[in-house]
Amino acid sequence: MSLEERRVYQEACIRCSQCKFVPAPKSKAFSSICPSIDYGQFHAYSGGGKVITSYALVKNNLEATPRLIDSVFACTMCGACDTACKTNEGDNVEPMDTMYALRAHLAKAGNVPPVLRELVERMLAQGSHLGPRHSRNDWAVGLSLTNASQGPVDVLLHIGGEVAFDKAQWPSLRTTIKIMQKTGIDFGVAMDDENDGGGTAYDIGYQDVALEMAQALAEVVRKSHAELVVTTSAQAYSAFRNIYPRLGVELGAVEVLHVSDYLERLLQQGVFALTGKSQKIITYHDPCKLGRMSETYVQWQGKWINVLNTLSVPDSTRPVRFGNGGNYESARQTLSRVPGLTLVEMERNRAHSYCCGASAGTPQAYPEMAEMAAINRLKEAQATGASCLVTSCAGCELHLRAIAQRNNFQIEVKGVLEVVADHIQWGQA
Ligand code: SF4
Ligand code: SF4
Repeated sequence: MSLEERRVYQEACIRCSQCKFVPAPKSKAFSSICPSIDYGQFHAYSGGGKVITSYALVKNNLEATPRLIDSVFACTMCGACDTACKTNEGDNVEPMDTMYALRAHLAKAGNVPPVLRELVERMLAQGSHLGPRHSRNDWAVGLSLTNASQGPVDVLLHIGGEVAFDKAQWPSLRTTIKIMQKTGIDFGVAMDDENDGGGTAYDIGYQDVALEMAQALAEVVRKSHAELVVTTSAQAYSAFRNIYPRLGVELGAVEVLHVSDYLERLLQQGVFALTGKSQKIITYHDPCKLGRMSETYVQWQGKWINVLNTLSVPDSTRPVRFGNGGNYESARQTLSRVPGLTLVEMERNRAHSYCCGASAGTPQAYPEMAEMAAINRLKEAQATGASCLVTSCAGCELHLRAIAQRNNFQIEVKGVLEVVADHIQWGQA
């Protein structure tokens, strides 16, 4: 939908600023929901502010100045403003959908920070902005894996760039491979044909690049003949469910799971169990892309009609994404299986989780904002009394770990796969 077509939604924004806050905050310290406004400290940086910017651009009342561009792109596209807006105001505004259109509008005119433009060019050229294609499978050296792009497999394991290029996550990934081999499941990896999901290109505003990447990945899925796609990437999982339907790209009759869902399913089936006494108190960080941004997008087929020359009303019920349909429980269930391990919640969790700053190219384009967001989140994690923050997004893990180390936080950062690898016991649960 173009920026012009979003006009009904832009006009519905009542400037209430609820998109800046958790709907039911428990403390002032952790009441904010928006890293962008926390960074910019100016209304234009908020979800509602971006809606107003869109409206003014459509009306030709604004120019795309460098400051305006910063207010739009210093934003992780985490979707928290959208969930907060809908919780308070219903489905009238949908700031995220307007923000997708706003970025596409600016990208079309070349008004994107150069760092983000280069990032998308790298993504298109090599399948990921995080590393070159020839190094993408270094993690698999010595493993005898089926190349899923050359033959039929039952399960296609998609490795996102965040894991493929972070050596610290390779041991946990290799444990996941071992678990899959133990199940006797016929699975493979697309090796050199694999690329990232394309969701980050869409987030940045390059919808044509996202479409190209999505079509390439859909082709890999088709060639694999897999019935199940398991991805280690929360970004890709979000793209499959939220972005591909917007692009009109279909993966076919295939089930898609994030690896945290898949491992929890294998645990329920008794393929392996988790053991070992742990005295740790841990807290779980809900990744935006695995949570609210993985809620399935369904295209509305209706249209707006004008009533009494004043009101715009939909001619049919519109599907609305409130953020509750994200993936929140699998990782928590898995963590609760470790004997002795205590899981405590941060104030902002599930659909109202606070973004760690790692997505939409923010660490590359606005590193100080990405660091600010991670510090905010790490402080919240520490306030729970936990000694370890666990997450199930490889990108969040990489970013939070780096910022925790740089700022001497006394809290460990781990991925769910690492916790599983630390506590695995083979056999019947
Ligand atoms: S986007 Fe929604 S929550 Fe934000 S100011 Fe507008 S109506 Fe209020
Ligand atoms: S997507 Fe996230 S960072 Fe961007 S305006 Fe909305 S809440 Fe703020």
